[in-house]
Amino acid sequence: MGTSGMVIVGAGEAGVRAAFALREHGYHGSVTLIGDELHLPYERPPLSKTEDEPVRPIVAEARFAETGITLLRGRAVTAIEAAVNTLALDDGDSLPYERLLLATGASPRRLQGLNYGKRVHVLRTVEQAAAIRQAMQKGHHLAILGGGFIGLELAAMGRKLGAAVTLIEVQPRVLMRGVPERLSLALQARHLHEGVNIICGVGIEAIAENDTSVSIALADGRQFDADALVVGIGAEPNNALAAEAGLLLENGIAVDDHLRTSNPDIFAAGDCCSYPVAVYGGRRVRLESWRNAQEQGTVAAANMLGKAESFDAVPWFWSDQYDLTLQVAGLSDGATSLVARPISTEAEILFHLDPDGRLLAASGLGPGGAVSRDIRLAEMLIARRAHPAPSALADPSIKLKSLL
Ligand SMILES: Cc1cc2nc3c(=O)[nH]c(=O)nc-3n(C[C@H](O)[C@H](O)[C@H](O)COP(=O)(O)OP(=O)(O)OC[C@H]3O[C@@H](n4cnc5c(N)ncnc54)[C@H](O)[C@@H]3O)c2cc1C
Repeated sequence: MGTSGMVIVGAGEAGVRAAFALREHGYHGSVTLIGDELHLPYERPPLSKTEDEPVRPIVAEARFAETGITLLRGRAVTAIEAAVNTLALDDGDSLPYERLLLATGASPRRLQGLNYGKRVHVLRTVEQAAAIRQAMQKGHHLAILGGGFIGLELAAMGRKLGAAVTLIEVQPRVLMRGVPERLSLALQARHLHEGVNIICGVGIEAIAENDTSVSIALADGRQFDADALVVGIGAEPNNALAAEAGLLLENGIAVDDHLRTSNPDIFAAGDCCSYPVAVYGGRRVRLESWRNAQEQGTVAAANMLGKAESFDAVPWFWSDQYDLTLQVAGLSDGATSLVARPISTEAEILFHLDPDGRLLAASGLGPGGAVSRDIRLAEMLIARRAHPAPSALADPSIKLKSLL
Protein backbone atom coordinates (compact mmCIF):
# COMPACT_ATOMS: atom_id res chain seq x y z
CA MET A 1 0.00 0.00 0.00
CA GLY A 2 1.62 3.24 -1.03
CA THR A 3 -0.39 6.19 0.23
CA SER A 4 0.98 8.75 2.69
CA GLY A 5 -0.71 11.67 4.42
CA MET A 6 -2.74 11.56 7.60
CA VAL A 7 -3.35 8.16 9.16
CA ILE A 8 -5.54 7.42 12.15
CA VAL A 9 -5.45 4.15 14.09
CA GLY A 10 -8.76 3.38 15.80
CA ALA A 11 -12.13 4.09 14.18
CA GLY A 12 -14.03 5.03 17.34
CA GLU A 13 -15.31 8.36 18.60
CA ALA A 14 -11.94 10.17 18.61
CA GLY A 15 -10.63 8.68 15.37
CA VAL A 16 -13.78 9.36 13.33
CA ARG A 17 -14.08 12.92 14.63
CA ALA A 18 -10.42 13.56 13.82
CA ALA A 19 -10.78 12.23 10.27
CA PHE A 20 -13.67 14.59 9.51
CA ALA A 21 -12.01 17.48 11.34
CA LEU A 22 -9.00 17.15 9.03
CA ARG A 23 -11.33 17.84 6.11
CA GLU A 24 -13.15 20.62 7.97
CA HIS A 25 -9.76 22.28 8.51
CA GLY A 26 -9.30 22.27 4.72
CA TYR A 27 -6.87 19.38 4.36
CA HIS A 28 -7.12 17.88 0.87
CA GLY A 29 -4.47 15.16 1.14
CA SER A 30 -5.03 11.51 1.91
CA VAL A 31 -6.84 10.56 5.15
CA THR A 32 -6.88 6.88 6.17
CA LEU A 33 -8.85 5.64 9.17
CA ILE A 34 -8.02 2.11 10.28
CA GLY A 35 -10.22 0.18 12.70
CA ASP A 36 -10.06 -3.44 13.77
CA GLU A 37 -13.83 -3.75 14.28
CA LEU A 38 -15.92 -4.88 11.32
CA HIS A 39 -18.85 -2.54 11.87
CA LEU A 40 -19.23 0.91 10.54
CA PRO A 41 -17.88 3.08 13.44
CA TYR A 42 -20.61 3.23 16.09
CA GLU A 43 -21.52 5.01 19.30
CA ARG A 44 -20.67 3.14 22.50
CA PRO A 45 -22.84 4.98 25.08
CA PRO A 46 -26.12 3.39 23.83
CA LEU A 47 -24.65 -0.10 24.34
CA SER A 48 -25.36 0.08 28.07
CA LYS A 49 -28.45 2.31 27.87
CA THR A 50 -30.85 1.28 25.13
CA GLU A 51 -32.22 -2.19 24.66
CA ASP A 52 -33.23 -1.44 21.09
CA GLU A 53 -31.20 -0.07 18.16
CA PRO A 54 -27.90 -1.60 19.28
CA VAL A 55 -25.76 -0.16 16.45
CA ARG A 56 -25.91 3.59 16.07
CA PRO A 57 -23.33 4.69 13.48
CA ILE A 58 -21.24 7.76 14.35
CA VAL A 59 -21.65 8.97 10.76
CA ALA A 60 -23.54 7.58 7.77
CA GLU A 61 -21.45 5.32 5.55
CA ALA A 62 -21.85 7.60 2.54
CA ARG A 63 -20.03 10.43 4.35
CA PHE A 64 -16.71 8.59 4.08
CA ALA A 65 -16.84 8.44 0.28
CA GLU A 66 -18.23 11.98 0.02
CA THR A 67 -15.30 13.39 2.00
CA GLY A 68 -12.66 11.13 0.48
CA ILE A 69 -11.80 9.45 3.78
CA THR A 70 -10.52 5.89 3.34
CA LEU A 71 -12.00 3.67 6.03
CA LEU A 72 -10.27 0.32 6.49
CA ARG A 73 -12.55 -1.89 8.60
CA GLY A 74 -11.60 -5.12 10.32
CA ARG A 75 -7.92 -4.30 9.94
CA ALA A 76 -5.53 -4.05 12.87
CA VAL A 77 -2.32 -2.09 13.00
CA THR A 78 0.31 -4.38 14.46
CA ALA A 79 3.33 -2.09 14.73
CA ILE A 80 4.52 1.48 14.31
CA GLU A 81 7.93 1.83 12.73
CA ALA A 82 8.39 5.36 13.99
CA ALA A 83 11.90 5.80 12.57
CA VAL A 84 10.51 5.55 9.02
CA ASN A 85 6.94 6.87 9.62
CA THR A 86 5.35 3.58 8.60
CA LEU A 87 2.68 1.30 10.03
CA ALA A 88 2.49 -2.49 9.77
CA LEU A 89 -0.96 -4.03 9.28
CA ASP A 90 -2.19 -7.47 10.27
CA ASP A 91 -2.36 -8.68 6.66
CA GLY A 92 1.31 -7.92 6.07
CA ASP A 93 0.73 -4.59 4.35
CA SER A 94 2.59 -1.48 5.38
CA LEU A 95 1.33 2.09 5.26
CA PRO A 96 3.44 5.24 5.37
CA TYR A 97 2.21 8.32 7.23
CA GLU A 98 3.14 11.94 7.37
CA ARG A 99 1.34 12.39 10.71
CA LEU A 100 -0.24 9.65 12.76
CA LEU A 101 -3.07 9.78 15.29
CA LEU A 102 -3.45 6.99 17.83
CA ALA A 103 -7.11 6.77 18.83
CA THR A 104 -7.05 3.19 20.02
CA GLY A 105 -9.43 3.58 22.96
CA ALA A 106 -9.50 1.29 25.98
CA SER A 107 -10.37 -2.31 26.82
CA PRO A 108 -12.37 -3.68 29.75
CA ARG A 109 -10.20 -4.50 32.75
CA ARG A 110 -10.15 -8.23 33.44
CA LEU A 111 -10.38 -9.66 36.91
CA GLN A 112 -7.17 -11.56 37.60
CA GLY A 113 -7.63 -15.26 38.14
CA LEU A 114 -11.20 -15.29 36.82
CA ASN A 115 -12.07 -17.79 34.15
CA TYR A 116 -13.99 -15.98 31.38
CA GLY A 117 -16.30 -18.58 29.90
CA LYS A 118 -19.47 -18.19 27.78
CA ARG A 119 -21.53 -16.83 30.68
CA VAL A 120 -19.02 -14.21 31.86
CA HIS A 121 -19.15 -10.95 29.92
CA VAL A 122 -17.41 -7.60 29.59
CA LEU A 123 -18.80 -4.62 27.66
CA ARG A 124 -17.05 -2.50 25.08
CA THR A 125 -18.28 -3.68 21.68
CA VAL A 126 -21.60 -4.15 19.95
CA GLU A 127 -21.13 -7.94 19.92
CA GLN A 128 -20.54 -7.97 23.67
CA ALA A 129 -23.62 -5.77 24.16
CA ALA A 130 -25.74 -8.22 22.13
CA ALA A 131 -24.52 -11.15 24.25
CA ILE A 132 -25.34 -9.30 27.47
CA ARG A 133 -28.80 -8.38 26.21
CA GLN A 134 -29.44 -12.06 25.51
CA ALA A 135 -28.65 -12.75 29.15
CA MET A 136 -31.13 -10.11 30.32
CA GLN A 137 -34.26 -11.93 29.29
CA LYS A 138 -37.30 -11.88 31.53
CA GLY A 139 -36.91 -14.41 34.30
CA HIS A 140 -33.11 -14.63 33.93
CA HIS A 141 -30.81 -13.71 36.79
CA LEU A 142 -27.96 -11.39 35.83
CA ALA A 143 -25.06 -10.75 38.19
CA ILE A 144 -22.96 -7.64 37.70
CA LEU A 145 -19.56 -7.10 39.28
CA GLY A 146 -18.81 -3.38 39.65
CA GLY A 147 -20.99 -0.46 40.68
CA GLY A 148 -19.49 1.98 38.22
CA PHE A 149 -21.38 3.64 35.36
CA ILE A 150 -21.50 0.64 33.05
CA GLY A 151 -22.55 -1.75 35.83
CA LEU A 152 -25.31 0.56 37.01
CA GLU A 153 -26.58 1.36 33.52
CA LEU A 154 -26.72 -2.35 32.75
CA ALA A 155 -28.55 -3.00 36.03
CA ALA A 156 -31.19 -0.45 34.98
CA MET A 157 -31.48 -2.03 31.54
CA GLY A 158 -31.71 -5.51 33.03
CA ARG A 159 -34.60 -4.50 35.27
CA LYS A 160 -36.34 -2.81 32.36
CA LEU A 161 -36.13 -6.06 30.40
CA GLY A 162 -37.48 -8.08 33.33
CA ALA A 163 -34.32 -9.82 34.53
CA ALA A 164 -33.46 -10.23 38.21
CA VAL A 165 -30.25 -8.29 38.87
CA THR A 166 -27.65 -8.67 41.62
CA LEU A 167 -24.92 -6.04 41.63
CA ILE A 168 -21.74 -6.61 43.64
CA GLU A 169 -19.49 -3.67 44.51
CA VAL A 170 -16.33 -4.16 46.55
CA GLN A 171 -16.36 -0.56 47.81
CA PRO A 172 -18.76 0.53 50.57
CA ARG A 173 -21.02 2.28 48.03
CA VAL A 174 -21.53 2.48 44.28
CA LEU A 175 -19.80 5.18 42.19
CA MET A 176 -17.03 5.80 44.75
CA ARG A 177 -14.88 7.47 42.09
CA GLY A 178 -15.75 11.00 41.03
CA VAL A 179 -19.35 11.15 42.27
CA PRO A 180 -20.28 12.72 45.63
CA GLU A 181 -21.71 10.33 48.18
CA ARG A 182 -25.06 12.08 48.32
CA LEU A 183 -25.75 11.58 44.61
CA SER A 184 -24.40 8.04 44.48
CA LEU A 185 -26.61 7.10 47.45
CA ALA A 186 -29.60 8.67 45.70
CA LEU A 187 -28.87 6.56 42.62
CA GLN A 188 -28.30 3.48 44.76
CA ALA A 189 -31.69 4.06 46.45
CA ARG A 190 -33.35 4.26 43.06
CA HIS A 191 -31.80 0.97 41.98
CA LEU A 192 -32.99 -0.68 45.21
CA HIS A 193 -36.46 0.73 44.58
CA GLU A 194 -36.38 -0.79 41.08
CA GLY A 195 -35.56 -4.17 42.60
CA VAL A 196 -31.80 -4.42 42.03
CA ASN A 197 -30.15 -6.46 44.75
CA ILE A 198 -27.03 -4.42 45.63
CA ILE A 199 -24.27 -6.00 47.71
CA CYS A 200 -21.55 -3.51 48.72
CA GLY A 201 -18.27 -3.96 50.58
CA VAL A 202 -17.53 -7.47 49.34
CA GLY A 203 -15.77 -8.89 46.31
CA ILE A 204 -15.99 -12.11 44.34
CA GLU A 205 -13.81 -14.94 45.62
CA ALA A 206 -14.43 -17.48 42.87
CA ILE A 207 -16.79 -18.34 40.06
CA ALA A 208 -17.63 -21.67 38.50
CA GLU A 209 -19.48 -21.95 35.21
CA ASN A 210 -21.43 -24.88 33.84
CA ASP A 211 -23.80 -25.32 30.86
CA THR A 212 -26.77 -23.71 32.57
CA SER A 213 -25.46 -21.21 35.12
CA VAL A 214 -22.57 -19.44 36.72
CA SER A 215 -22.03 -19.95 40.43
CA ILE A 216 -20.59 -16.98 42.28
CA ALA A 217 -18.82 -17.23 45.63
CA LEU A 218 -18.40 -13.97 47.51
CA ALA A 219 -15.44 -13.22 49.77
CA ASP A 220 -17.72 -13.25 52.86
CA GLY A 221 -18.79 -16.85 52.23
CA ARG A 222 -22.11 -16.15 50.53
CA GLN A 223 -22.79 -18.01 47.30
CA PHE A 224 -25.45 -17.73 44.58
CA ASP A 225 -26.18 -18.82 41.02
CA ALA A 226 -26.90 -16.56 38.07
CA ASP A 227 -27.52 -17.07 34.37
CA ALA A 228 -24.66 -14.74 33.51
CA LEU A 229 -22.10 -12.41 35.07
CA VAL A 230 -20.98 -9.07 33.66
CA VAL A 231 -17.62 -7.80 34.91
CA GLY A 232 -17.63 -4.00 34.83
CA ILE A 233 -14.56 -2.98 36.79
CA GLY A 234 -13.09 -0.27 34.58
CA ALA A 235 -10.96 -0.14 31.48
CA GLU A 236 -7.27 -0.08 30.55
CA PRO A 237 -5.86 2.12 27.79
CA ASN A 238 -4.92 0.35 24.55
CA ASN A 239 -1.30 1.47 24.46
CA ALA A 240 0.61 -1.64 23.37
CA LEU A 241 1.42 -0.17 19.93
CA ALA A 242 2.70 3.03 21.49
CA ALA A 243 4.73 1.13 24.09
CA GLU A 244 6.42 -1.00 21.43
CA ALA A 245 7.19 2.13 19.43
CA GLY A 246 8.93 3.58 22.47
CA LEU A 247 6.46 6.42 23.04
CA LEU A 248 6.27 7.89 26.53
CA LEU A 249 3.49 6.33 28.61
CA GLU A 250 1.93 7.59 31.78
CA ASN A 251 -1.45 6.01 32.55
CA GLY A 252 -1.96 5.63 28.79
CA ILE A 253 -0.11 7.35 25.99
CA ALA A 254 1.31 10.59 27.40
CA VAL A 255 0.52 13.66 25.28
CA ASP A 256 1.17 17.37 25.79
CA ASP A 257 -1.45 20.10 25.66
CA HIS A 258 -1.37 19.89 21.83
CA LEU A 259 -2.12 16.14 22.12
CA ARG A 260 1.30 15.36 20.68
CA THR A 261 3.12 12.27 21.97
CA SER A 262 6.85 12.12 22.68
CA ASN A 263 7.28 11.61 18.89
CA PRO A 264 6.59 14.88 17.02
CA ASP A 265 4.78 13.13 14.13
CA ILE A 266 2.49 11.08 16.37
CA PHE A 267 -0.57 12.38 18.22
CA ALA A 268 -3.06 10.60 20.49
CA ALA A 269 -6.66 11.33 21.49
CA GLY A 270 -9.50 9.82 23.51
CA ASP A 271 -9.54 7.02 26.07
CA CYS A 272 -6.02 5.82 25.18
CA CYS A 273 -4.14 8.92 26.30
CA SER A 274 -3.41 11.01 29.37
CA TYR A 275 -3.06 14.75 29.02
CA PRO A 276 -2.38 17.79 31.20
CA VAL A 277 -5.66 19.45 32.20
CA ALA A 278 -5.07 23.18 31.75
CA VAL A 279 -7.83 24.30 34.08
CA TYR A 280 -6.21 22.37 36.99
CA GLY A 281 -2.68 23.65 36.47
CA GLY A 282 -1.64 20.87 34.10
CA ARG A 283 -2.52 17.90 36.32
CA ARG A 284 -2.33 14.81 34.09
CA VAL A 285 -5.44 12.64 33.72
CA ARG A 286 -6.83 10.04 31.37
CA LEU A 287 -10.56 10.38 30.78
CA GLU A 288 -12.98 7.82 29.43
CA SER A 289 -15.68 10.10 28.20
CA TRP A 290 -17.50 10.52 24.94
CA ARG A 291 -17.24 14.28 24.66
CA ASN A 292 -13.57 14.23 25.60
CA ALA A 293 -12.89 11.76 22.77
CA GLN A 294 -14.71 13.99 20.28
CA GLU A 295 -13.08 17.21 21.41
CA GLN A 296 -9.62 15.69 21.52
CA GLY A 297 -10.10 14.22 18.04
CA THR A 298 -10.94 17.70 16.73
CA VAL A 299 -7.96 19.41 18.37
CA ALA A 300 -5.53 16.63 17.45
CA ALA A 301 -6.57 16.97 13.79
CA ALA A 302 -5.83 20.71 13.85
CA ASN A 303 -2.41 20.10 15.36
CA MET A 304 -1.61 17.30 12.90
CA LEU A 305 -1.97 20.02 10.28
CA GLY A 306 0.57 22.24 12.02
CA LYS A 307 -1.79 24.49 13.96
CA ALA A 308 -0.94 25.02 17.62
CA GLU A 309 -4.25 24.55 19.41
CA SER A 310 -4.10 23.87 23.11
CA PHE A 311 -6.63 21.41 24.47
CA ASP A 312 -8.27 23.22 27.36
CA ALA A 313 -11.77 21.74 27.66
CA VAL A 314 -13.33 21.16 31.07
CA PRO A 315 -13.90 17.42 31.62
CA TRP A 316 -17.58 16.46 31.37
CA PHE A 317 -19.55 13.25 31.29
CA TRP A 318 -23.04 11.95 31.79
CA SER A 319 -24.77 8.71 32.71
CA ASP A 320 -28.41 7.69 32.18
CA GLN A 321 -30.09 5.29 34.59
CA TYR A 322 -33.89 4.81 34.45
CA ASP A 323 -35.28 8.32 33.83
CA LEU A 324 -32.40 9.92 35.75
CA THR A 325 -29.40 11.65 34.24
CA LEU A 326 -26.20 12.28 36.17
CA GLN A 327 -23.84 14.91 34.81
CA VAL A 328 -20.44 15.88 36.18
CA ALA A 329 -18.41 18.85 34.95
CA GLY A 330 -14.83 19.23 36.14
CA LEU A 331 -12.77 17.07 38.49
CA SER A 332 -13.59 17.22 42.17
CA ASP A 333 -10.22 15.99 43.53
CA GLY A 334 -8.90 18.59 45.97
CA ALA A 335 -12.35 19.90 46.85
CA THR A 336 -12.92 20.43 50.56
CA SER A 337 -16.49 21.68 50.63
CA LEU A 338 -19.77 20.95 48.92
CA VAL A 339 -22.61 23.37 48.30
CA ALA A 340 -26.03 22.02 47.30
CA ARG A 341 -28.41 23.84 44.97
CA PRO A 342 -31.93 22.47 44.64
CA ILE A 343 -33.17 22.57 41.04
CA SER A 344 -36.56 20.97 41.67
CA THR A 345 -38.01 18.47 44.12
CA GLU A 346 -36.30 15.70 42.14
CA ALA A 347 -33.11 17.38 40.94
CA GLU A 348 -30.11 19.02 42.55
CA ILE A 349 -26.60 20.16 41.77
CA LEU A 350 -23.65 19.86 44.14
CA PHE A 351 -20.78 22.31 43.71
CA HIS A 352 -17.30 21.22 44.77
CA LEU A 353 -15.09 24.04 46.10
CA ASP A 354 -11.42 24.06 47.06
CA PRO A 355 -10.15 25.67 50.32
CA ASP A 356 -9.83 29.07 48.54
CA GLY A 357 -13.44 28.92 47.38
CA ARG A 358 -12.59 28.14 43.77
CA LEU A 359 -15.22 26.08 41.95
CA LEU A 360 -13.54 22.82 40.86
CA ALA A 361 -16.48 20.72 39.77
CA ALA A 362 -20.26 20.41 39.71
CA SER A 363 -22.30 17.20 39.87
CA GLY A 364 -25.99 17.13 39.07
CA LEU A 365 -28.68 14.46 39.22
CA GLY A 366 -32.25 14.69 38.06
CA PRO A 367 -34.82 13.41 35.62
CA GLY A 368 -34.17 13.95 31.92
CA GLY A 369 -32.36 17.19 31.15
CA ALA A 370 -33.25 18.87 34.48
CA VAL A 371 -29.65 19.68 35.40
CA SER A 372 -28.21 20.23 31.90
CA ARG A 373 -28.43 24.01 31.65
CA ASP A 374 -26.97 24.67 35.09
CA ILE A 375 -24.19 22.12 34.63
CA ARG A 376 -23.31 23.90 31.37
CA LEU A 377 -23.12 27.22 33.24
CA ALA A 378 -21.07 25.60 36.02
CA GLU A 379 -18.69 24.35 33.36
CA MET A 380 -18.19 27.93 32.19
CA LEU A 381 -17.53 29.05 35.77
CA ILE A 382 -15.00 26.23 36.18
CA ALA A 383 -13.27 27.20 32.92
CA ARG A 384 -12.98 30.78 34.20
CA ARG A 385 -11.51 29.55 37.47
CA ALA A 386 -14.30 31.39 39.28
CA HIS A 387 -14.66 31.78 43.05
CA PRO A 388 -18.46 32.18 43.29
CA ALA A 389 -20.02 32.98 46.67
CA PRO A 390 -21.30 29.72 48.22
CA SER A 391 -24.47 31.51 49.29
CA ALA A 392 -25.20 32.43 45.66
CA LEU A 393 -24.51 28.89 44.45
CA ALA A 394 -26.92 27.53 47.05
CA ASP A 395 -29.72 29.94 46.19
CA PRO A 396 -31.80 28.76 43.21
CA SER A 397 -33.33 32.23 42.86
CA ILE A 398 -29.89 33.60 41.85
CA LYS A 399 -29.22 32.64 38.24
CA LEU A 400 -25.84 30.96 37.72
CA LYS A 401 -25.49 33.04 34.58
CA SER A 402 -25.30 36.17 36.73
CA LEU A 403 -22.18 34.74 38.43
CA LEU A 404 -20.23 34.48 35.17
C1 LIG B 1 -20.87 0.66 27.20
C2 LIG B 1 -20.28 2.04 27.24
C3 LIG B 1 -21.06 3.11 27.66
C4 LIG B 1 -20.53 4.40 27.72
N1 LIG B 1 -21.32 5.42 28.15
C5 LIG B 1 -20.80 6.67 28.25
C6 LIG B 1 -21.59 7.76 28.72
O1 LIG B 1 -22.74 7.60 29.09
N2 LIG B 1 -21.02 8.98 28.81
C7 LIG B 1 -19.72 9.20 28.43
O2 LIG B 1 -19.24 10.35 28.53
N3 LIG B 1 -18.96 8.19 27.96
C8 LIG B 1 -19.46 6.93 27.87
N4 LIG B 1 -18.68 5.90 27.41
C9 LIG B 1 -17.29 6.18 27.05
C10 LIG B 1 -17.13 6.57 25.60
O3 LIG B 1 -17.87 5.74 24.77
C11 LIG B 1 -15.65 6.50 25.27
O4 LIG B 1 -15.00 7.47 26.07
C12 LIG B 1 -15.37 6.76 23.81
O5 LIG B 1 -15.94 5.76 23.01
C13 LIG B 1 -13.86 6.78 23.58
O6 LIG B 1 -13.60 6.93 22.24
P1 LIG B 1 -12.18 6.50 21.64
O7 LIG B 1 -12.24 6.85 20.20
O8 LIG B 1 -11.09 7.03 22.48
O9 LIG B 1 -12.12 4.92 21.82
P2 LIG B 1 -13.07 3.78 21.21
O10 LIG B 1 -14.45 4.28 20.98
O11 LIG B 1 -12.88 2.60 22.09
O12 LIG B 1 -12.42 3.47 19.79
C14 LIG B 1 -11.15 2.89 19.64
C15 LIG B 1 -11.17 1.94 18.47
O13 LIG B 1 -9.83 1.59 18.12
C16 LIG B 1 -9.79 0.22 17.80
N5 LIG B 1 -8.38 -0.23 17.88
C17 LIG B 1 -7.62 -0.38 18.98
N6 LIG B 1 -6.39 -0.81 18.65
C18 LIG B 1 -6.36 -0.92 17.30
C19 LIG B 1 -5.36 -1.33 16.37
N7 LIG B 1 -4.14 -1.70 16.76
N8 LIG B 1 -5.66 -1.34 15.04
C20 LIG B 1 -6.91 -0.96 14.62
N9 LIG B 1 -7.89 -0.56 15.47
C21 LIG B 1 -7.62 -0.55 16.80
C22 LIG B 1 -10.72 -0.37 18.83
O14 LIG B 1 -11.13 -1.68 18.50
C23 LIG B 1 -11.86 0.62 18.79
O15 LIG B 1 -12.77 0.30 17.76
C24 LIG B 1 -19.19 4.61 27.35
C25 LIG B 1 -18.39 3.52 26.93
C26 LIG B 1 -18.92 2.25 26.88
C27 LIG B 1 -18.06 1.10 26.45
